[in-house]
Amino acid sequence: MSLLSVVLPAYNEEQNIANTAGVLSGLLEREGIDYELVFISDGSKDGTYAEIRKASAQNPRIKGAQFSRNFGKEAAIFAGLELASGDAVVVMDCDLQHPPQTIPLMWEKWKAGAEIVEGIKSSRGKESLGYRLSAGLFYRIMSRLIKIDMNASSDFKLLDRKVVNVLLELPERNTFFRALTFWAGFRTESVEYEVQKRQFGKSKWSLWSLMKYAVTNATSFSTMPLQIVTVTGAASIVGSVILAVQTLVRYLMGASVEGFTTVILLILIIGGFIMLSLGIIGHYLARIYEEVKGRPKYIISRVTDNVPENAAGIWKR
Ligand code: UDP
Ligand code: MG
Repeated sequence: MSLLSVVLPAYNEEQNIANTAGVLSGLLEREGIDYELVFISDGSKDGTYAEIRKASAQNPRIKGAQFSRNFGKEAAIFAGLELASGDAVVVMDCDLQHPPQTIPLMWEKWKAGAEIVEGIKSSRGKESLGYRLSAGLFYRIMSRLIKIDMNASSDFKLLDRKVVNVLLELPERNTFFRALTFWAGFRTESVEYEVQKRQFGKSKWSLWSLMKYAVTNATSFSTMPLQIVTVTGAASIVGSVILAVQTLVRYLMGASVEGFTTVILLILIIGGFIMLSLGIIGHYLARIYEEVKGRPKYIISRVTDNVPENAAGIWKR
């Protein structure tokens, strides 16, 4: 019988663990699916890990790990994929915003041969206007940059063991799970779901963290910003040739003192472009630096008793 692993990243979610574990195990038992739940506490500072341990003591199909500090949701997802032993792995949020009833549908598609089942948002649920606008803008830019339609996509997916292994083999430190499954290819199907209301607690994203996330992911998936630097550079060269000719003609005609405003404007505009370009290049340099250091994506500090302590390389990866 095939095993389904459900990976649940959790950051300060003590109120959600017991409820989510109960809902998922109840559902999967009723559906007759052989399952395990993998909770990754992403350096939570509240009782999240204690809750995971408690759930694990009650139900041996529940296992979990605690990071030594907050490494971010991406890292937590990858740690979960590493610990999961299922033939198929579902990744979902642990606040039940991804409706559990969708899992059996994904499972059916997987049994019918799909290797990736994407959860597609049919509605974005209740989000503030500001959040919706910024998320909308983020996805439009991202879709352009990486040439994949991202607007409705989410981290709610089912992956076949083959795909999980491909993702775990990737050498890069900075990952963008949502886009990587598109990049990987494979036989992909999708199911629609309605984003639910968060069960307990608050969203862990601030506007600032979303902006950082957007820039990091854009640069990890596309070199387009670097090409924009080249294009603006070329455009300003064309502009400066025109101005150079004009200046020379004026000089030869003996009227060269005018145009002070032009000079100041040019200095400002070109200075601005140069700073922006350096910033973009600096950003890529920083990313290269991070990758080159080769530090682990995450560090696991504790695991529940049903996880073998020496499970290949799980401590840092
Ligand atoms: N999360 C995480 N690490 C973080 C931030 C969030 O593991 O640094 C988890 C969080 O516990 C939740 C999921 O990622 O299970 C989605 O986070 P959240 O619900 O806060 O985001 P939203 O649903 O508002 O996009
Ligand atoms: Mg949420």
